[in-house]
Amino acid sequence: SEAALRQSQKMEAIGQLTGGIAHDFNNMLTGILSALDIVRLRLEKGRYDDLERFLDTATASSQRAASLTQRLLAFSRRQSLDSKPVELNELVGSLQHLLRSTLGETVHIQTRLADDPLHAALDTNQFESAVLNLAINARDAMPNGGQLELSTSRVQVGEGVSATIPAGVYAVVGVADTGTGMPPEVVERAFEPFFTTKPIGKGTGLGMSMVYGFMQQSGGHIAIDSVPGQGTTISLYIPLAEPAAEPDAVVSAPEVSLGA
Ligand code: ADP
Repeated sequence: SEAALRQSQKMEAIGQLTGGIAHDFNNMLTGILSALDIVRLRLEKGRYDDLERFLDTATASSQRAASLTQRLLAFSRRQSLDSKPVELNELVGSLQHLLRSTLGETVHIQTRLADDPLHAALDTNQFESAVLNLAINARDAMPNGGQLELSTSRVQVGEGVSATIPAGVYAVVGVADTGTGMPPEVVERAFEPFFTTKPIGKGTGLGMSMVYGFMQQSGGHIAIDSVPGQGTTISLYIPLAEPAAEPDAVVSAPEVSLGA
């Protein structure tokens, strides 16, 4: 669709731009941090307590900036996928521990897996970070705690049923929360790189666009169902691969071109 094309062109342009800027910026920050170290060493210990405090502030800010540029570099490098055959019930089940330790006590995690195995071809590392991104968004949307449900199911999408999901049979991984939900104008922009409603320092606006890009690269699709005041479900539609039954039906993921 036209919106999807605009989205991927924007991703590509921003990826190239941020990659270049982040790289130069990182070099400058290295210069700033080592200069601060030298000043700190030359300051006579104990004589300029107030100046040392300013130095610490400058160092802490530079380190925060360095960690942001690292994240930008990782984003713009969007590695090519290392897709392998996986079974999604197993994969999603194996993420529970990681999610529990990441999300903390206030979020109650439930898992609802399909009865039958769901075979697909995926880059498991990137899948893991995609689900983690979605789970962290879910937690942020539930400041007073709530429920996070991870699910897998086999879904048949009929012809013309969805404007964004082509007809076919999919393995769907759902991440559902009981949080604040999103108004329509946020749903519309959620996949846009750098779009965030979170305060500065909290959100980068890269999570959803990374998940979107990953799904696109994997030959899949992503859908948002959100009701303000009730919660949000993010559904990842992943092409099914049935290795035993139809060995020739495995669809290879289209490569996303990042330009030269
Ligand atoms: P970030 O989390 O850094 O803001 P994202 O790209 O992951 O960036 O998300 C973009 C925006 O989409 C968020 O700022 C938030 O407004 C909205 N959003 C994403 N997931 C959820 C969710 N589960 N519940 C409510 N809002 C969400």
